Amino acid sequence: MIQLVKGTKDIYGAEVKAWQSIEGKMRRLCETFGIGEIRTPAFEFTELFVRGVGETTDIVQKEMYTFTDDGDRSLTLRPEGTAGVVRAYIEHGMHNNAQPTKLYYISPTFRCENTQAGRQRQFHQFGVEMLGSYSAAQDAEAISVAAALLEEMGVKGVELRINSLGCPECRGRYNKKLREFIGSNLDRLCPTCKERFEKNPLRVLDCKEESCQAVIANAPSVLDCLDEECTAHFQKVQDILTEMGIPFVVDPKIVRGLDYYTRTVFEFVSDGLTVCGGGRYDNLVEECGGKPTGAVGFGLGIERLVMILEKQNGAIEEHPERDVYIGSMGEKGLIRAQGITLALRKAGVRAECDTVERSVKAQMKYANKIGAKYSVILGDSELESGQVELKEMETGEKETVSLAELAEVLLKKVK
Ligand code: ATP
Ligand code: MG
Repeated sequence: MIQLVKGTKDIYGAEVKAWQSIEGKMRRLCETFGIGEIRTPAFEFTELFVRGVGETTDIVQKEMYTFTDDGDRSLTLRPEGTAGVVRAYIEHGMHNNAQPTKLYYISPTFRCENTQAGRQRQFHQFGVEMLGSYSAAQDAEAISVAAALLEEMGVKGVELRINSLGCPECRGRYNKKLREFIGSNLDRLCPTCKERFEKNPLRVLDCKEESCQAVIANAPSVLDCLDEECTAHFQKVQDILTEMGIPFVVDPKIVRGLDYYTRTVFEFVSDGLTVCGGGRYDNLVEECGGKPTGAVGFGLGIERLVMILEKQNGAIEEHPERDVYIGSMGEKGLIRAQGITLALRKAGVRAECDTVERSVKAQMKYANKIGAKYSVILGDSELESGQVELKEMETGEKETVSLAELAEVLLKKVK
């Protein structure tokens, strides 16, 4: 038997219901925030992610699913959502529209990572990107979308952690300071970080190895390297979050795993698991060939959100529910039941009937299993009289209804 690929998952049954409900909430929330949906392709030219995400990031170095097509072009399955949205923003001249441009997506995302709890090779991201503003107000608006969603989902104990990486000049100053600090602790770092230290010392702060974490604990703070403007920008983000009533903590160790971030970075953490990460990326649009454009966004892992919800509220259970079961007896009844069921469905009734040709007893057992609220049985006498006994499954109460009025009667009852 061929099994599913490691790090992927089938979503079905009760879980898919939970997903639909979560996605519905995301879409409704975006509607109220004035954020329109965008659907970009699942694969792009590899170059887009190398340039966008950054050469020295874990994603580009070892996590991308890259392949060559028949035209010898290098393509890559989307490892994150921002680069594709930025490409689309430039390609379709969206900067000509009223700014900011606010977009969201719910898309499968692919990273060839070591699988473990909360870490898959195909996962799903709810992402929001807001392009066309440099203001701290835009950062706060983006953060408020994620905060409102987590609040509406009833996720308990999430902590919002924010930090600022400053502009490239501040970052240059910090990199120098960090390199000096790390350099004097080099022997205590993991082999990957020894390499990272040369090319991009900031990446060391994001390392999950315990030995590296111990070193990082005493690292200098990026906030001490921010210039006046970047400091004021970060303060304003905090002032607006406070005004919005969104609690946060400042954590100068947050850098996020993507190279494109400038100034504000943030994450929402629950039970030690990052459910949402994002930040400002003021240079990415230009980097990808567009005009200089301030932008901010985040990605929220739907699997991780489901995991947290399950941990807090218990496993998701399935409660099947159907409005009516149209049982039948005999050949004529079976044929008639198919037509009546379709008519009921078209009228908006969630109807089921026998398509397996079971005995009446087995049909009723099935009606119970699928959670039918009402049932009828169509036999020769019912077909002749045009009247059926409509039975309420829970109480066993029966009433006589004409077949012609069945849809109307049911719609009134189940509404
Ligand atoms: P982490 O530090 O956990 O590796 P990251 O920095 O790689 O996260 P981002 O690239 O910012 O995360 O992605 C945003 C969100 O997508 C994460 O907060 C997480 O919820 C989710 N996510 C990232 N990688 C995975 C994965 N391999 N499996 C499931 N969800 C993931
Ligand atoms: Mg990662």
